[in-house]
Amino acid sequence: MSKVAIVRCKSYDKDLLFEALNKGISLIGGIETIVKENSRVLIKPNLLSARRPEEAVTTHPEFVRAVIRILKERNCDISVGDSPSGYGSNLVDNIYEVTGIKSICSQENVNLVKFDEATVIDGIPIARHALVQDAVISLPKFKTHGITVITGAIKNMFGLVTGLTKVEFHKKFPSPDEFSRFIARVFSSVKPTLSIVDGILAMDGEGPSGGRVRNLGLVVMGKDAVSVDSVLAGIANIDVKNVSSIVEAGRLNLGEADINNIEILGERLQDAAVKDFKLAGRSVLLSLPEPLMNAISGLVSFKPHINKKKCTRCNICLKSCPVDTIEERGRYLEIRHDKCINCLCCFEVCTFGAVNIKKSFLVKVFSMVRSL
Ligand code: SF4
Ligand code: SF4
Repeated sequence: MSKVAIVRCKSYDKDLLFEALNKGISLIGGIETIVKENSRVLIKPNLLSARRPEEAVTTHPEFVRAVIRILKERNCDISVGDSPSGYGSNLVDNIYEVTGIKSICSQENVNLVKFDEATVIDGIPIARHALVQDAVISLPKFKTHGITVITGAIKNMFGLVTGLTKVEFHKKFPSPDEFSRFIARVFSSVKPTLSIVDGILAMDGEGPSGGRVRNLGLVVMGKDAVSVDSVLAGIANIDVKNVSSIVEAGRLNLGEADINNIEILGERLQDAAVKDFKLAGRSVLLSLPEPLMNAISGLVSFKPHINKKKCTRCNICLKSCPVDTIEERGRYLEIRHDKCINCLCCFEVCTFGAVNIKKSFLVKVFSMVRSL
């Protein structure tokens, strides 16, 4: 049976974190069953964009430090890296700085890498650095997502797709189901040896970058990333069958998706579950029967809009849009909705909160009903 540990940790205090992570690791079999001594290990946090740790958009740097400390005890050759969506190499430096990852890596004397070289697997350019490691440890942030429902251990591997090519895959797989199936393909190229989810400060609502910060005080971990995501879905009160990346990864035998075949250790799932966990965007409609969804589809919309007052004209969204539908109109930017594929890249990359998702009336009603 696949094992997933849920442990509580009330803050990012160094010692509390070290203790909580060690507790979880020993519940799932001990570090010696995961990483051999002297191994080369890549730590892959979720560094979506240049946001400060307390905003709960990115994996907290102290979380990364705790894993570094655990790996140092195994005398590992450690590196840390990510390739955030929609960013070129020069902007990644700023993300490493603002998220606090650069400072942690420098203090711990650990290599902070950028994924500049790729090996193409199954038509997808995957960071070569990840492929030459003995182990990859994935540190996702527990958040909602407007397309994939949640971001977790499977989705975190999307950050191994190099550079701006990620944006092109949004264009190639525009529907949520297609994109989630693609995410499962990326995950199949590099399956992490261990996934440890930072759910101490999590995000619900309009994740992965504009939602509500939730102080859940949870750490979820396991060797099987598919099982880890199934447990996350359980904590978020979401039926696994509505999370296409988990369903697809299970179908491809990449891990155990059925919660009944997962042994949950530490906290009980029902005690960790968050009853009022709000979903993002179209996810609120997932529980509706298909015929009803088809009948109301014309009344359902989620459209990104740029708030002119908040927009600083940094132009990152402009460069990240896969279908070039963000246009300059004088001093401002505007989105042409006829071409927009709703990939939400602009929403994810804007660090100024200037991209808002406007929902139709019906979606607002369903959002309210789910959170009651
Ligand atoms: S909307 Fe955001 S990302 Fe786009 S130009 Fe304005 S501030 Fe930059
Ligand atoms: S405008 Fe935003 S949501 Fe629409 S296609 Fe471009 S990046 Fe995606």
